[in-house]
Amino acid sequence: SAALRVTEVSKTYPGSSTPALDNVSMTLRAGELLAVLGPSGSGKSTLLRAIAGLESLDSGSVEAQPAHDRVAVVFQSPGLFPWLSVRENVALGGRYKRNRDRFDHDAVEDLLGVLGLAGLADVPVTELSGGQAQRVAVGRALAVRPDVVLLDEPFSALDPATREDLQVWLRNVARELNLTIFLVTHDVAEAVALGDRIGFFGGPQGFSREWVPARDGTT
Ligand code: ADP
Ligand code: ADP
Repeated sequence: SAALRVTEVSKTYPGSSTPALDNVSMTLRAGELLAVLGPSGSGKSTLLRAIAGLESLDSGSVEAQPAHDRVAVVFQSPGLFPWLSVRENVALGGRYKRNRDRFDHDAVEDLLGVLGLAGLADVPVTELSGGQAQRVAVGRALAVRPDVVLLDEPFSALDPATREDLQVWLRNVARELNLTIFLVTHDVAEAVALGDRIGFFGGPQGFSREWVPARDGTT
C-alpha cells in the first residue's frame, strides 16, 4: 500500500527560468526504500523538502496516507547537539515529539541497541567519527518513530569505506524496524545497494523511471 503519493508537483524558484520540479508524480510504498538518483541540480532535494512540507509548491499535491503522516528528515550534515552525549541526542529526537512526562527511556535503549550505538551511549558526540555521528543523526530522527524517513544524501560527506559500512548498516536497520524510506542520492552504487526501487531524476520527463533490481530474485 502507498505510504504517500506525490501528484503532478511543479515548482520554479523565484527568479529562476527553469523549474526545479516539472510535473513530478511518484508513490512511496509502505515498507520500501525508494532511492531517487540523479545529478546535482536535478531537483531531488527540492522534492524531498516538498514531501517534508518545507517547500511551497506551484501546483500538484503531496498526500500522506493517514497512518503515514509522521515524517523525519536526515541531511548530509548530522547537525547534532554538540554538548550532549549520543544517548541524549537520540533521546532528544523523541522528546521533541512526545509529552516529556511520558518519554520512554526503555525505547531509547532499545533503539540504541538496534542502531549498534549502545556501546557509545555515554560518549559526547564531539568525540565521534563522521560515520558514527551520522548514525546518531539517523537515530535521533528514528526516535520520533516516524512513518516515513527522508534521507537527503545522508552518507555523501563520508569516505568511501565508511559510506559502504553505513549502507549495510542502514539496510539492516531498515529491515529490523520495517522503515519506509525515501533516499536521495547522486551515487549510483548507493542507489543500487539500498533501493528496493530506484527513481531517476533529470531525464526529459523529470522523475522518469523505476525498476526493481534483482537483489530479491525478481525482475
Ligand atoms: P539536487 O538535490 O538534485 O541537487 P536541488 O533540488 O537542490 O537539486 O536543486 C534543483 C534546482 O533548483 C537547481 O537548479 C538549484 O540551483 C535550484 N534551487 C535549489 N534550491 C534553491 C533555492 N533555495 N533557491 C533557488 N534555487 C534553488
Ligand atoms: P543539494 O545538491 O544537496 O541540494 P546544494 O549545494 O544544491 O545541495 O544546495 C545547498 C543549499 O543551497 C540548499 O538549501 C538549497 O536549497 C540551496 N540552493 C541551491 N541552489 C540555490 C540557488 N540557486 N539559489 C539559492 N539557494 C540555493
